[in-house]
Amino acid sequence: MNWNVLYAEDDRVQSAIVLSLLQQDGFTVTHVENGKAALAALSGQSYDVILTDQYMPQMSGFELLSEVRKRELDIPLILMTSTQDMQLVFAAVRAGAADFISKDLNGQYLELIAPVLVRSCERHQLQARLRQHAARLEQEKNLCYKTLDAMEEGVIVINEDLCITYHNSYFSALFPSGTEGCLLGKRVAALIALFNRQVEREQTDGALLDEGAFCRWLKSGAGSWEMVVGTRILDVKKVEVAGTGFAVALADISQRKEAEQALIRAHQLTQSIIDHSPFSIVATDLNGIIVAVSPALERMLDYHKDELVQQRSVLMFHDEAELIRCAQTLSDELDRDIDPNFDMLVLPARNGEVRGQDWNYTRKDGTRVPVNVTVTTLRDHDGRLTGYLWVAYDVTAQRQAAERIQHVAHHDALTGLPNRTLLQDRLETALRRVRRTGRKMGVLVLDLDHFKRINDSLGHVVGDELLKTVATRLVVAVRDSDTVCRMGGDEFVVILPDVHLRQDVERICLKILESVARPVQVGLNTLTVTPSIGLSMAPDDGDNEADLLKHADIAMYRAKQSGRNGYSVFCQEMAQVNHDEMMIEQALHHAFHHRRLKLHYQPRVDVETRRVNGFEALIRWHDPVHGTIAPDRFIPMAETTGYILSLGAWALQQACRDIRTLREQHGVAFRVSVNVSPRQLEQPDFVDTVRNALQASGLPPQALELEITEGVLAAESGAVLTMLNALHDLGVVLAIDDFGTGYCSLAYLAQYPIDVIKIDRSFLDVGHTCCRAIVGAITSIAEELGLEVVAEGVETQDQIELVRDRGCRVVQGYYFYEALALEDLTPLLPNVSRDVARKLAMH
Ligand code: C2E
Ligand code: CA
Ligand code: CA
Repeated sequence: MNWNVLYAEDDRVQSAIVLSLLQQDGFTVTHVENGKAALAALSGQSYDVILTDQYMPQMSGFELLSEVRKRELDIPLILMTSTQDMQLVFAAVRAGAADFISKDLNGQYLELIAPVLVRSCERHQLQARLRQHAARLEQEKNLCYKTLDAMEEGVIVINEDLCITYHNSYFSALFPSGTEGCLLGKRVAALIALFNRQVEREQTDGALLDEGAFCRWLKSGAGSWEMVVGTRILDVKKVEVAGTGFAVALADISQRKEAEQALIRAHQLTQSIIDHSPFSIVATDLNGIIVAVSPALERMLDYHKDELVQQRSVLMFHDEAELIRCAQTLSDELDRDIDPNFDMLVLPARNGEVRGQDWNYTRKDGTRVPVNVTVTTLRDHDGRLTGYLWVAYDVTAQRQAAERIQHVAHHDALTGLPNRTLLQDRLETALRRVRRTGRKMGVLVLDLDHFKRINDSLGHVVGDELLKTVATRLVVAVRDSDTVCRMGGDEFVVILPDVHLRQDVERICLKILESVARPVQVGLNTLTVTPSIGLSMAPDDGDNEADLLKHADIAMYRAKQSGRNGYSVFCQEMAQVNHDEMMIEQALHHAFHHRRLKLHYQPRVDVETRRVNGFEALIRWHDPVHGTIAPDRFIPMAETTGYILSLGAWALQQACRDIRTLREQHGVAFRVSVNVSPRQLEQPDFVDTVRNALQASGLPPQALELEITEGVLAAESGAVLTMLNALHDLGVVLAIDDFGTGYCSLAYLAQYPIDVIKIDRSFLDVGHTCCRAIVGAITSIAEELGLEVVAEGVETQDQIELVRDRGCRVVQGYYFYEALALEDLTPLLPNVSRDVARKLAMH
């Protein structure tokens, strides 16, 4: 080793010898001549060792030593001095000199210099390394302690005598404050006092070596944290280190214990909820295999859990047909094909939906129980799906109640058929199917022909019975999957989902026609009623409910127009006609507003005197675009829209005015007959309307006749009777129009304040003996009741004779006159003087 030596010596001879000796031995030597120069050299460079003589000018070797120490230079210093100076040598060693060399006179000490230097250097180097090592150890120890102190569990080390030689801060914190310092050196047993516990000495002290004993000891005391693991202290090679005792760790697991307890309590609670819950609960794995069931489920389905758990799939509770139906509905809803399997059942749950669904579960004995089932997912801590929970409850009672409510809300009370609301639903569903499957659907609108007549003449009870029979026949005529609805009145709708061809639907129409037309026995009456059917098909005639119904309706009207008792298939041309109807309706409004409607008057003639004694007012409409439009075309339409009220009021006023003028002009006490729609009679202020028309025109009431239809009387309504009485009290004349066409019985005539009967022209068929008899019967009864009789639609001489022979004097018909405009009447009527005329007009 090439040591670097700082050498201080003032004697030149000696220094020359020592220098050469040391250089020979491989030292690097810096020579200075006194202590001061040595200090100066030290501040410029570092040396391994200082070799100094004691006696030197300016600063001695000892003084140099003091300075080096003072400056805390970590360099060993070797002092050379004469043998007599032993006192000085001791002082130097005490003051920190690394070694000394006594100079003898024979120069033997020169031999010692090199070995002494080497020894000092090496020792110094070793010491430095040791110090470094110790510092590192200290650091590590501190780190260990810090780590142990940071631990959330108690750590102690105890020696063979069971005394504590180390503890971390967690451990000491378990004891009353202030005891921390006293813990070291304490026997473990003595700690019991500090814990203030009543534990027998032997139990703890003696048994401590036994692993877990301390734990047991702590357990027996207060506090809920406890556990100890005692091990012999091992070195890194897992070899027991002799004489070190044991390391003991104490972990406070009270929280964990508490959590465990809470978990147990929660589990017990859950179990008791499940056990006592009225809900039937099933847990399944991902494939539907049952893993747990609640007692309520066992009771509800009459199974023992051992028959189900790990044995069966939850699918076993389901009815296959119901699953298939559900799959179909879902397919329609989601617009994609859904299979009727387990996945279908858990689909909503997987999508995070929690919704109850109604099913019919199958009991062990095969019977069914209606249930509402909610499926939710079961997941583990990490949110992974592990299975499903099925919560079901018996909804027999609810379902019965709901079914009753549903039924009432969705069915017609009379026939029990689905009503308009349910029809909408069924149509929607059927249409979705059409869109999904690409197949066709038929919609039939069916209306009974002249049903109103039956209802009006035979009464509601008979009418209702007839409707019920028709409803039953319709249901029998179609398939189970078809829907028959009653829209109200005598109108029915039949939905035929899933049909291939129009011809198939037409065949069903024929079947219905044949079935409905069979005679029906209601009480003593044998009735025959025929239907008119309109048919539309989806998707050809419409892809929405409204269009399909509208088009079927249009087709039905066409069937009615073409003679009833038949069916008609919708086509676009019909829609056009319907459109025309709407156009006419608009045109009517326009015509009325612009005073284009006219009243014509058809004279009534006394067959004996051949004189005109009255007129029937009939509306005439000539439209510049549509031409002449017959009242039969627009009056029924105005009745449906309610527009007839305006038209009727106008006709009444106009007729009163016109006839008052005629009476004045001709001096004849003409009577005018005005047609009154049933809708007008329903208006409570109709009497006022009539009174106002009379007052405004100045026509006396007995000069006004109101024609009402038979149906109005047949309705047997108290309001109608009141109305007719009021009109009669006003002094106007009341006539029954078209008598004999409805189911009006002659008995009505006595009940109502009727003055005139107008025999319908259909009875003037001279070739028919039956007609003759009827005309005879009517006139003789009228005579008995003191009623006037007017024969309508007389076209031939034969007809005149027919009615005259049977006592009817007044006729109206083309044989004499058509309805004429007011100005065209004048030439036909007699002229009288103005004065006479005015007098007559007033009476
Ligand atoms: P209605 O009350 O039965 O009127 C008699 C109908 O028979 C009239 O048809 C008349 O022109 C027609 N007629 C008269 N004599 C003969 C004849 O010898 N042979 C034939 N074949 N027909 C004859 P119109 O004018 O077309 O009226 C049809 C229906 O329109 C009327 O039947 C009536 O119900 C209704 N109507 C007409 N004007 C009014 C009105 O102002 N108010 C109301 N509410 N209805 C009216
Ligand atoms: Ca009439
Ligand atoms: Ca008539």
